[in-house]
Amino acid sequence: MTTPYKHEPFTDFTREENRTAFEEALANVNQIMGKEYPLVINGERISTEDKIISYNPANKEEVVGKVSKAKKEHASMAVEAAAEAFKEWRYWNPEERANILFRAAAIVRRKKHEFSALLVKEAGKPWNEADADTAEAIDFMEYYARQMIELAKGKPVNSREGEINKYIYTSTGVTVVIPPWNFLFAIMAGTTVAPIVSGNTVVLKPASATPVIAALFVEVLEEAGLPKGVVNFVPGSGAEVGDYLVDHPKTSIITFTGSREVGIRIFERAAKVQPGQTHLKRVIAEMGGKDTVVVDKDCDIELAAQSIFASAFGFSGQKCSAGSRAVVHADVYDQVLQRVVEITEQKIVGNPENADTYMGPVIDQGSYDKIMDYIRIGSEEGRLMTGGKGDDSKGYFIEPTIFADLDPNARIMQEEIFGPVVAFAKAANFDEALEIANNTEYGLTGAVITRNRQHIERAKQEFHVGNLYFNRNCTGAIVGYHPFGGFKMSGTDSKAGGPDYLALHMQAKTISEML
Ligand code: GLU
Repeated sequence: MTTPYKHEPFTDFTREENRTAFEEALANVNQIMGKEYPLVINGERISTEDKIISYNPANKEEVVGKVSKAKKEHASMAVEAAAEAFKEWRYWNPEERANILFRAAAIVRRKKHEFSALLVKEAGKPWNEADADTAEAIDFMEYYARQMIELAKGKPVNSREGEINKYIYTSTGVTVVIPPWNFLFAIMAGTTVAPIVSGNTVVLKPASATPVIAALFVEVLEEAGLPKGVVNFVPGSGAEVGDYLVDHPKTSIITFTGSREVGIRIFERAAKVQPGQTHLKRVIAEMGGKDTVVVDKDCDIELAAQSIFASAFGFSGQKCSAGSRAVVHADVYDQVLQRVVEITEQKIVGNPENADTYMGPVIDQGSYDKIMDYIRIGSEEGRLMTGGKGDDSKGYFIEPTIFADLDPNARIMQEEIFGPVVAFAKAANFDEALEIANNTEYGLTGAVITRNRQHIERAKQEFHVGNLYFNRNCTGAIVGYHPFGGFKMSGTDSKAGGPDYLALHMQAKTISEML
């Protein structure tokens, strides 16, 4: 019997011993900077000439690792290996599959700060964000392992006299996993282990900005006892390897987290039945967000300001859950806005390796340029309250930036920026606030800060987002507590870390036998 699931606690970095331990972990991780990592196909290591170089976004000169880059031929080998391994893996005892996840979680937990320190290096995460990312990776393993044990029992159905009916879940097939760079550990690990524990085999194509953590995670899975071919590691370009994997007739499931543009491309391509393909593909897609914190007239002003601040600027706003819009009731607008500016100006932006840094860099030059463009657009559309400057000389640093007095239809109120930029709009009343909150093509997260019970109940019905929070920030969903996923153009509402997630990777089978 396993213990009941509980989420991994966050590290308290106000405690001296934890700070020291994390400093040590950073020093240890320095030892592996620049290392090379091969492809892994059917358990074999393959080194290619061509490499994906992972850079530290806080210090462009530092190479985090050099990862072999797959070509089509490797992608093809990986799908074949996964298809072959599926023949046995699908019939493994689900509990034994779950045990591999429990062991992998234990391995990660033992080296927790080392993994988090790597996330500081590879993605520029400040300590607390890195710690939460590692904790979430552990949570996904612990949670899905338990879910599989439950799901293996099937679900009850009725039987008439003279028959025995059963309803069970069976595995589906080769799963192509394309995770994002922002939750480079948690989402990469979660989207990899969910298909694995449910008896599918995986071809993992990590995000090109953050392939090193994925390479190390594949090693963890192997150490935990995962048989060869069950996970295959093929970093590569989206255009060459990504499309190929999605189109492959032996691919059964594609699980993607990333931009809306790529998500739609995958969804469309997966719909096309290829020659030799004998099934319909499934797509699990988590795409963008343009998430809103609504502040009502009757509210705790300090809580509102802190919630807007945390939602907008945690990990430099590089979350699809980021609250990049604040819609505030006219009566409290000036007060809330001013307080958010104050809080923002007190925080330290800089090297994420320092314990006191609140916000580090953005991920790469492409992101930096795109965000700076939006800051230019914002300066025309609204009133710049703080921030607005960037410096990409050493790393990709952008100040936390606040714009006020936006028209609800302004571009920075509608388009996903994926950076440290928040736009404020004024609402005359709660009706208008809800209307503005719903006026984007996305529907991922949202928060409402209010003391008004009636308004809470209305928002529960009318605020169309997959994850709705009251009197708190709109980021930081916890596995098993806040199943995560959105409506509209935010994706397939697949609810990662929720009770229905594994079933999306499985085929339900009805078995009816006459007595
Ligand atoms: N699950 C994360 C959160 O609740 C966001 C995931 C993402 O950005 O893709 O903040």
